[in-house]
Amino acid sequence: MSLLRKKKQPIWKQISLTSLLIGLVSLSVLITLTILLVASYQSNKKTLIDTTLTLNYTSAIKMSQTIDSLFKSMRSSLHYSASVLSNMNSMNTDEIYSNLELIRHSSNQFNSIVVVDETGIVRNMSPKSVGTVGQYIRTEEAKTALTLKKPYLSKPYITTKTKRLIVFMSEPIYDKEGRYRGYIGGTIYLQEKNILSMIFGNNPTDKIGSYFYIVGSNGHVLYHHDKNRLGKNISANQVVRKLMQGQSGHEQMVNLQGKALLAGYVKVPENGWGVIVASPISVVYEQLNDYIKTVLFYTLPPFILLMLIVIGLARGLARPFVTLADFMTKIGKEKVELPKGKRHWNREADLLTEAVRYAVADIKKQTEQLTLDAMTDPLTGLTNRRALQAIMHRWIEEQISFSIIIMDIDKFKSINDTFGHQAGDEVLKHFAKIITSCVRPGDVCCRFGGEEFISLISYASIEEAHLVAERIRLMLEKSVNPIGQTITVSQGIAHYSSHSDSAEELIHLADQALYKAKESGRNQTVIAEFAEELSH
Ligand code: GH3
Ligand code: MG
Ligand code: MG
Repeated sequence: MSLLRKKKQPIWKQISLTSLLIGLVSLSVLITLTILLVASYQSNKKTLIDTTLTLNYTSAIKMSQTIDSLFKSMRSSLHYSASVLSNMNSMNTDEIYSNLELIRHSSNQFNSIVVVDETGIVRNMSPKSVGTVGQYIRTEEAKTALTLKKPYLSKPYITTKTKRLIVFMSEPIYDKEGRYRGYIGGTIYLQEKNILSMIFGNNPTDKIGSYFYIVGSNGHVLYHHDKNRLGKNISANQVVRKLMQGQSGHEQMVNLQGKALLAGYVKVPENGWGVIVASPISVVYEQLNDYIKTVLFYTLPPFILLMLIVIGLARGLARPFVTLADFMTKIGKEKVELPKGKRHWNREADLLTEAVRYAVADIKKQTEQLTLDAMTDPLTGLTNRRALQAIMHRWIEEQISFSIIIMDIDKFKSINDTFGHQAGDEVLKHFAKIITSCVRPGDVCCRFGGEEFISLISYASIEEAHLVAERIRLMLEKSVNPIGQTITVSQGIAHYSSHSDSAEELIHLADQALYKAKESGRNQTVIAEFAEELSH
């Protein structure tokens, strides 16, 4: 046992079969799940980014086409009005005013329309409320349009009188003789309801946070859902810069606020403006997070189920080994039996249990034989002296009353001397059989040593024991024995607890009685004297 203990591993180095199995399964499932999640996360991320970029680019193309055709139509509408005006002598008639009103209201393309003569005086205006009719044009952009004498589109600027942020487009008016007569100009009020907001809506951000904005050819914001950004120069923005260089495309970018975006950007051919459709990249990560949550939602329950099954299997697998280990530690210390259950589903566990069962049964059989041998006299097969003493002590402990008969073959030495030691042995065996045949199964027959025998007669009074002793004595005397001559025996009897409470004392008293029998001529039975008798 001490050797076993020395060889035992320190507890921290050991791992139970259950933990090992659970650990291995958890590890493999976790690794698989992680690889699966990382791989699908990466591929989904790429797909989502690519799809968002393509979608935004497609939207930007559509918007660019819409703005392009809108501008063509605005340009042609101004151009037509300019050609009509070229035939007019006067530019400030009510008829022209009505026409301007009609153009403005019918198409809603312009927030205001102005007719300026070649000297720079505002001749007509719709709506009248602007109140600049008759005044000289003041803004740089109006003056540029006048001196340019060509179709013109301004960058955003603030009007002098009404302080509005506007863009302005104009068409020159030439009369039949080809003389320059001024221009007709239309404006878009960037901060108010205008043709762009009517087409694209006021709040262009969608559910997932995508939005778009329009920049002019100089990188000024013309349209943005955040009104504060209108008119601002954002040409430092990497995508706006590309638009200003005439490029279209899509890419991941960081805007001037430091926000990462997925942007599609397309130039509008007609006016050099640019349309940018952008989605915050965080949208992609939110979708990916949702995806991971969904994957976990669907993979965790089977994983937990798998773990429970593995725990159950691991425990079931470990149980026979634990039982065997437990059994093996107890064996030898206490009386234990290996439970006979049904066969284990695991082949190795079953084989080991069976092997241990057979080994233990074998050991048990051998131990029983050894125990029996240790208690038995080899010559006669009777109980030996050691076993007798143990039985006596037990009976005394359990207060089972009994009588003890001590027997000694008379003149045995001469039998040995006359017939030989072998014949002496045969006589001993013969007498042993006689003793056994004269007692009940619960009684004890013992070879005490040499040719001395003891019989314990359970629950027997002295009288009863005396009857048994006499039966033995007479049977021996009359029996046909191995030497063919009469053999006799002398006997002494004592009783528990009449004579004594001590095993040794009982043997001693019976032996004294035997001695008396020998002294009185042998072949007789003498009962031990009681203490009172002794004292007399
Ligand atoms: P008594 O009537 O006084 O008992 O005389 P006895 O000859 O029987 O007594 P003693 O004690 O002098 O002799 C016992 C003999 O028993 C001595 C010994 O050689 C013999 N003996 C003891 N054990 C065995 C044995 O196992 N086999 C044989 N054959 N003889 C034995
Ligand atoms: Mg003797
Ligand atoms: Mg003798």
